Amino acid sequence: MGIFSKKSTHCTVCNKETKRTHKTKKEWNFEGTLCTDCYMKTMEQYYNGTFKQKCAICSAEQKITDLWEPRWQWDMEGLLCKKCFDSKEIDFNHKKEYCSQCGNKMNFFRYNPKDEWKMDGQLCRKCWDEQKESRK
Ligand SMILES: [Zn+2]
Ligand SMILES: [Zn+2]
Ligand SMILES: [Zn+2]
Repeated sequence: MGIFSKKSTHCTVCNKETKRTHKTKKEWNFEGTLCTDCYMKTMEQYYNGTFKQKCAICSAEQKITDLWEPRWQWDMEGLLCKKCFDSKEIDFNHKKEYCSQCGNKMNFFRYNPKDEWKMDGQLCRKCWDEQKESRK
């Protein structure tokens, strides 16, 4: 105690001052340190499937078993609720089929923008040519 006491930190969950801290696990998807109580609780919830987490898009809290992992092509972190997962999928498929510039449905031929163009989605031939032209 006194001057020999270690610097204490606050638990991210209950905000109580704690000397004995535990690091969160990567799959819990939140940062910070936990007190022993919260650590045990989170661990238990996680294994019982009652652990709750926020959807990465709409922030609604859901049981982790009701959350979906985003597809790797979406290039995002965290977990999604069913609603956001579905709309993300529709959005993603839409982007795959429609030119991100003019919005026209693309036929079989579609073109990926160059990295340096820093664009999302794919382009139809016409827009791709235009982009290329405008960046000369
Ligand atoms: Zn705590
Ligand atoms: Zn959501
Ligand atoms: Zn286009």
